[in-house]
Amino acid sequence: MKITAVKTAATVGHGMHLWVKVETDEGITGIGECVHGGVQAIALIQQLQAKLVGRDPFQIDAIFEQLRRQNVFNGGFAGALITALTGIELALWDVKGKALGVPIYELMGGKFRDEIKVYADCQVEPGMDFDDIKRVLDDMLARGFTAFKIDLDIFAYGHSGSEVEGFRKDRFNYTAGPWEHERMVRLAEMARELAGKEIDFAADVHTRLDVPSAIRLAKDLEPFHLMWLEEPVPPENVDAMREVKQSTTTPICAGENLYLRHGFRDLIESQAVDIIMPDIPKCGGLSECRKIAHMAEIYYMPFAPHNVSSPIGTMASAHVCATVPNFLALEFHWLERDYWSTIITDKEDIIKNGFIKLPDRPGLGIELDETVGREYQYPGTTWFE
Ligand code: MG
Repeated sequence: MKITAVKTAATVGHGMHLWVKVETDEGITGIGECVHGGVQAIALIQQLQAKLVGRDPFQIDAIFEQLRRQNVFNGGFAGALITALTGIELALWDVKGKALGVPIYELMGGKFRDEIKVYADCQVEPGMDFDDIKRVLDDMLARGFTAFKIDLDIFAYGHSGSEVEGFRKDRFNYTAGPWEHERMVRLAEMARELAGKEIDFAADVHTRLDVPSAIRLAKDLEPFHLMWLEEPVPPENVDAMREVKQSTTTPICAGENLYLRHGFRDLIESQAVDIIMPDIPKCGGLSECRKIAHMAEIYYMPFAPHNVSSPIGTMASAHVCATVPNFLALEFHWLERDYWSTIITDKEDIIKNGFIKLPDRPGLGIELDETVGREYQYPGTTWFE
């Protein structure tokens, strides 16, 4: 079997969802997805196509590593090039599974579990008050999720960096003032009250605190028994992250913006976090993330992948989650988008009562509905041309 074409399409969503289709001379096509690579990833995939056509699609790891090494001067350590290769890698696994007639997880050593626990990222926004946030949490819990995540930093400033009413802190300084600290703790307290004792929840502060502010917050959150506190300080200073981790019994999680095994090595080997959260359709793909999970496993560190992908990237992530012992929970970040179920040909939610059941069909096990996808086509992009 030979690769005959590599094509892309993109939809609006969490920034941009970028789909990758790999076609072969035997009529088998594979679908992949990558996120946070932007238009740069589209250009890179188009450029890489010349190196892929004519190759054996079964040589997934070798293709990935060869193209990465050929491009070390162009971002072969982190960033859009890795994300572009990731989208291709996911599609190649779908091709291989379909060609051999087995699900991807069977090619990766088989399943540790049949169902993948999903946690819902609650879409709380700057400007919401506690009553607004309670409604979001009530709606999410009514959908049957057994775990969720809430952004505690929404009172500081929005995801876009815009100021909101109640803004008390300097836009660049990382110190949480008393007002802001109190709001974050009260929000976590409300989440625990709504969740009860059985539902897990995590809290994210998007790297927006300095070390003393992060330690104070983590310690004050201890009574609420969080699943984790996410990225209390920026992840690039492993020593600072470890200082926070060692100060508290609240588990600390980080890694959504790191790439490849090499990006996670310091974090894992210095045990600067309790839990790691690579974004599988972004940071290196299925093979690489299994290796990252196994690196963490030797420190008994859980693996809880970050995920903002559509059902395609989510299901690809689920295949990895099924095949590693230390899987904890996989993110779901589409609560607010109603085409989650219609953008795949099965027309049903892959998540049921907070869990994804791995399909027993070959390859990824689900297919993109291109007609629906086109309705959300990203402006200025082409559609699998
Ligand atoms: Mg996060």
